[in-house]
Amino acid sequence: MNMAAKGDFICHMSDIDPSDRIETYMSKALELAKQGARQGEVPVGAVVVYQDEIIAQAFNAPISSHDPSGHAEIRAMREAGQRIGNYRLVDCELYVTLEPCAMCAGAIMHARIGKLYFGANDPKTGACGSVVNLFGETRLNHHTEVIGGILADQCGKTLSDFFAHRRQLKKRPAFIKIRINLSEQVIVLYKDSEILKHYSISSAANGPGEQSGSHCTPRGKHIVRAMIGRNMPLNTVFVRRRPTGEIYSDELAKTQPDRDWILTRILWLSGCEPGFNRLGTVDTMRRYIYIHGTADEAAIGSPCSHGCIRMRNQDIVELFDLVQAGTEVEIT
Ligand SMILES: [Zn+2]
Repeated sequence: MNMAAKGDFICHMSDIDPSDRIETYMSKALELAKQGARQGEVPVGAVVVYQDEIIAQAFNAPISSHDPSGHAEIRAMREAGQRIGNYRLVDCELYVTLEPCAMCAGAIMHARIGKLYFGANDPKTGACGSVVNLFGETRLNHHTEVIGGILADQCGKTLSDFFAHRRQLKKRPAFIKIRINLSEQVIVLYKDSEILKHYSISSAANGPGEQSGSHCTPRGKHIVRAMIGRNMPLNTVFVRRRPTGEIYSDELAKTQPDRDWILTRILWLSGCEPGFNRLGTVDTMRRYIYIHGTADEAAIGSPCSHGCIRMRNQDIVELFDLVQAGTEVEIT
């Protein structure tokens, strides 16, 4: 193998004999990089090889390890040192999918890694020639031979795919979803997989059920079909989804003790599962199942409605502004 001379430490795959061995180790590093990407880390992978055996492997993980030095190379070298019981890795080879940065280059020199093989060049932070060439710096005493460009296209594509995917995620509006848990009497609002809000509710006194006339709360996949009451005052009274002009109060309640009050805002639900909560005698929409504000805030947390999902008035105002027509609602 034609290694670069000291002072000219970068040479490329085309300059050396093709070697399955080198590409095999780099492929392993590439697998690790992809593993990191699945955890949301910038995909860079590294393996340390000693006496033709992988003794340490790592992917880039500064985010999940809360560690600014958590680059793949550093993590792999740290593990290798533990494994062979020596802070010097003199006879070791390091394979990394991306050109090391200045921090990692420093650590590689301190570890006295014998040979460094890297994949893609890093035009932003590469310290093996792309931005600076620390290994070409003769004033630094080091012992590492550097060979770049191993599986460079594949290594580079893994990175560019990752960043393209991340840009796309940023452009896409967040996915908002409501989950209602009847046994716990809660509504949870999700933004993608993150919990955004959590509210107590009161569902049907008769428990879960989809039949028309059962006065039960339907289960399964739903959507918000219509939203009623935007910008109306708190405690606005609705009858058949229209504001009556009344504002609920204890005095008003005393005059009509048997009325089922629907207050403040209405999210009218529609089932998405034909035969279970849609169409026929199990149609959530035609059963007029709403998420709405209630007069009986004291009962929130225990099931006592006639089928609807009751919420505190202040809570339904807040929830209303976080969802839109079409938002998914799953009731279990
Ligand atoms: Zn680094």
